[in-house]
Amino acid sequence: MRNSIFVLSIIFLCFSCDNGQTKKLVESPLKLAETHPMVKNVILLIGDGMGLGQISAGMYSQQNHTALERCKVVGIHKPHASNKLVTDSAAAATSFACGVKTYNGAIGVTKDTLDVESIMSLAQKSGKKTGLVASSTIVHATPAAFYAHNKSRKNYEEIAADLVNSNVDFFVGGGKQFFSNRNSDGRDLYAELRAKGYIISDFLESEFATLEISKEKKFGYLTANKDPLPVAQGRDYLIDASKAALNYLENSIEDDGFFLMIEGSQIDWGGHANDGDYVVSEFIEYDKIIDLALDFADTHPNTLVVITADHETGGLAIQPESKMDSLSYAFTSTYHTGTMIPVFAYGQGAEDFGGIYENTAIFDKIKLALDL
Ligand code: MG
Ligand code: ZN
Repeated sequence: MRNSIFVLSIIFLCFSCDNGQTKKLVESPLKLAETHPMVKNVILLIGDGMGLGQISAGMYSQQNHTALERCKVVGIHKPHASNKLVTDSAAAATSFACGVKTYNGAIGVTKDTLDVESIMSLAQKSGKKTGLVASSTIVHATPAAFYAHNKSRKNYEEIAADLVNSNVDFFVGGGKQFFSNRNSDGRDLYAELRAKGYIISDFLESEFATLEISKEKKFGYLTANKDPLPVAQGRDYLIDASKAALNYLENSIEDDGFFLMIEGSQIDWGGHANDGDYVVSEFIEYDKIIDLALDFADTHPNTLVVITADHETGGLAIQPESKMDSLSYAFTSTYHTGTMIPVFAYGQGAEDFGGIYENTAIFDKIKLALDL
């Protein structure tokens, strides 16, 4: 039965495409039959430091509910880096973005510091629009691994210069000083981005919510001079920017789709601070973005949403005296821990994300789903 459906699908696919595509299908029929050639859009949501302890704390704090429960497919990834068992965000994001295990601190480079192409770049080559949204600076490790190549995550000005050459269509995050007030070379990256056709603005010029965003132009917005505030101290752009990114990237039937990464950056910072309330407030905001992305997949059925974390932070444990409305936390570390990490998937192609696999498989699976 399965075989006859498989053969029929191949015959149908061969009839419905031109010669070039037919050749490609005949070369790799198994791959296409096993995966999902119709996945057009991928939304990758990375909650930095969002292990099961953080998710549980956030869930109990919302009367035992999280948007993640909408995902019927759950997998687990192994987050270790090439040089350390306990990864940092740079090595982990490089694994998601580029499909390689590398050393802590590496941005878009292998363990031998060689540049490696990212899923975002591959998506662009197949005609997709791309977007990056973060509640850290846009040059911080997690977003950086999707567009930059640098031996060190700390080279923020070099990473910002890579963003100018990245061709990303839409970006929002902090770090204005690395674009407009550079120590290393005095370059004005605002001017360079504008010369490349970007509408570029920042928190000093205009509120994000008041901006008019045109699909005809590339778009960038810097939300803070350095790190954006915690949400509990007034950061208010992440939900609006995520909605705007989806509106901007939403495609018509004839478009080639998009790749969008939205990071909940500061769940990690709450973990480093061993501050349960910080973790929970950041999670609760990010949970709304998860809901938003899943709603988008409901109305755009060719969309795959993947939600995961780079690593756990703090070794957060919910203590025995906890009640649903008053949680008590303990932490084992002010750094990351080596625990395995859940992966939630939703929409077209979600079923490929069940099981236990290396963090690099997130790259492989998205690449396969988009047929890149
Ligand atoms: Mg991060
Ligand atoms: Zn961290």
